[in-house]
Amino acid sequence: MVKYKAPLREYEFVLREVLQIEKELGSYPSYSEATWDMIEMISEQFGKINEDYWLKSSKDGDEIGVIFDEGKVTVPESMKEATKVVIESGLTQLFGHQEYGGMEFPNVINVLSDEMSCASNMSLGIYLGLTKGAYHCIHKHGSKKIRNMYLPKFLSGQWFGTMCLTEAHCGTDLGLIRTSAKPNNNAYLVSGQKIFISCGEHDMAENIIHLVLARLPGAPKGVQGISLFLVPKYKVKEDGTLGGKNGVNCVSIEEKMGVHGSATCVMSFEKSEGYLIGELNEGLAAMFSMMNTERIAVGLQGLGQSEIAYQNALSYAKDRIQGRDLKEPRNPEEEADPLIVHPDVRRMLLRSKSLIDSGRMLACWTALAIDKSEKDTDAKVRKENGELVELMTPIVKALLTDYGVEITSDMLQIFGGHGYIKEYGMEQFYRDVRIAPIWEGTNGIQALDLAGRKMPQKMGRLLRRFFHPALEFIEKNKEDKDLKEFVIPFSKALKGLQKTTLYMAQKGLANPYEIGAAATDYLRQFGLVAMAYMWLLMLEVAFSKRSENEYYEHKITTARFFYERILPETLSRAIAIGSGSKTMMSLPDEGFDSIHQFTGVT
Ligand SMILES: Cc1cc2nc3c(=O)[nH]c(=O)nc-3n(C[C@H](O)[C@H](O)[C@H](O)COP(=O)(O)OP(=O)(O)OC[C@H]3O[C@@H](n4cnc5c(N)ncnc54)[C@H](O)[C@@H]3O)c2cc1C
Repeated sequence: MVKYKAPLREYEFVLREVLQIEKELGSYPSYSEATWDMIEMISEQFGKINEDYWLKSSKDGDEIGVIFDEGKVTVPESMKEATKVVIESGLTQLFGHQEYGGMEFPNVINVLSDEMSCASNMSLGIYLGLTKGAYHCIHKHGSKKIRNMYLPKFLSGQWFGTMCLTEAHCGTDLGLIRTSAKPNNNAYLVSGQKIFISCGEHDMAENIIHLVLARLPGAPKGVQGISLFLVPKYKVKEDGTLGGKNGVNCVSIEEKMGVHGSATCVMSFEKSEGYLIGELNEGLAAMFSMMNTERIAVGLQGLGQSEIAYQNALSYAKDRIQGRDLKEPRNPEEEADPLIVHPDVRRMLLRSKSLIDSGRMLACWTALAIDKSEKDTDAKVRKENGELVELMTPIVKALLTDYGVEITSDMLQIFGGHGYIKEYGMEQFYRDVRIAPIWEGTNGIQALDLAGRKMPQKMGRLLRRFFHPALEFIEKNKEDKDLKEFVIPFSKALKGLQKTTLYMAQKGLANPYEIGAAATDYLRQFGLVAMAYMWLLMLEVAFSKRSENEYYEHKITTARFFYERILPETLSRAIAIGSGSKTMMSLPDEGFDSIHQFTGVT
């Protein structure tokens, strides 16, 4: 049976001891309630709900799944119960602004709650995550009337949200959108079909609020002609109560590889009443304004699934006996030793642990910058943190989700054949997490965003938001007796990244294929250097407290593994980037074919 324990000690270490969020955020008036005692209490409560309710419902989500019948979608009962518990505890109000009934907790706390919910039941986390995303988008771009009408209902858990971008002929290239919107009195009539809409229809909320991308007649072609509309499943009367059904229908749901508890819907909009969000023809910008938080949230799906897979694999590796320790039996009185004695099993565990720890730190560090970019009174601090967030967002999304797939695979491997069968639940993690590198902008597109947009932006100013503090850290700590062991290889890896960046900037100017060919390797190289920097920040604390208890000593060993075994991958990535685009672009399309006709051979 799958087990899960909320990693609260890890969050205390990262948020309180390393990032010192009380000191960093305590002076912002809207966060005055968010004392560490309060955060701790909420984390414990949230963790317990995840351990006791969400985890139980995850199996039902996978095995019973969502059921489609004549336009209606039914979610398994245990998932509904788990949702009810979280709503009744008031935790859906955590992220909202006080004027709409929210608790206005720092964004960085979202990392903790998103990781836990995506670990214990990723399908269920999607319903609430999309609602949170819709809340932020409407809060930023909706009119006052719309904000007052809709936002309190999201926070109270009565209404849920969706994001409707994709159409059959249009996925990554949103400029191809055909869904139309025609002005009609004070509203618009939205018509068209969207596919792959997560949580487009279900029976967990009174109303479902769709954020739909569509274009007006005569709007400019491509992404410049797209607007964003709020389209409710049930119309909402002036007094906020529900009116009649809008022209929104779920035509079917998809059969898919994982996240079976999340309904993936084909949605038909037939002259459905919608309201403009943001400015006309600026819909994509409005939708993408919430992308930083959304993309970090998707990264946390990867992290959450990695964590739960790791916890279960570790427990199995300690219990299952098979083979003998290479040096001497660990359990001479038993027939065999536990799996954890084998170096190869330890390699998989430690690789995962070191990636999870630094991935979590990276997500929290970036989320803290979001808080500072929104709340700080100093405009310069807001701007600089905003730039850091811009830079790090594609890295957090792609790195944590790619590692999510890798780690769930390695953790399944520790179970051998027992991982491949359903009984232990390991194959569900692998299936569920596989969507995360695909949605919210595929990881290939995240890499292009980093290498093609963020890297050259503002003459490299975004890059400096990472490079400068990292260089300062090196300067300050290069002689430190403890940190030196790590600072020296970090400094080399950072120099390597700077070199690659320069190389790509120069080559990319002459030939855009160079950026396209290098982007994924560049994101990984950057991501690994960023993780190494996160380790340095954690090590500073770990060394200072190593005499207090073993927890800190274990962190140092985990960091050492990362530096010895994972960071060197930056070298092979740099070599791959240096090989350029010539070879991959020179093979003609037919050269990719694997079925060759033996013509002309006698
Ligand atoms: C389970 C599930 C739930 C989803 N939920 C939602 C949802 O709630 N709302 C919503 O709107 N959508 C949703 N989607 C859609 C999802 O966001 C898209 O599948 C994704 O954006 C990719 O689009 P596509 O599938 O059409 O692939 P394509 O765009 O056809 O891409 C195919 C491949 O080509 C690559 N590629 C494409 N263009 C380029 C380029 N210019 N340069 C380099 N590589 C490129 C991609 O990286 C990818 O590897 C969901 C999808 C699934 C499977």
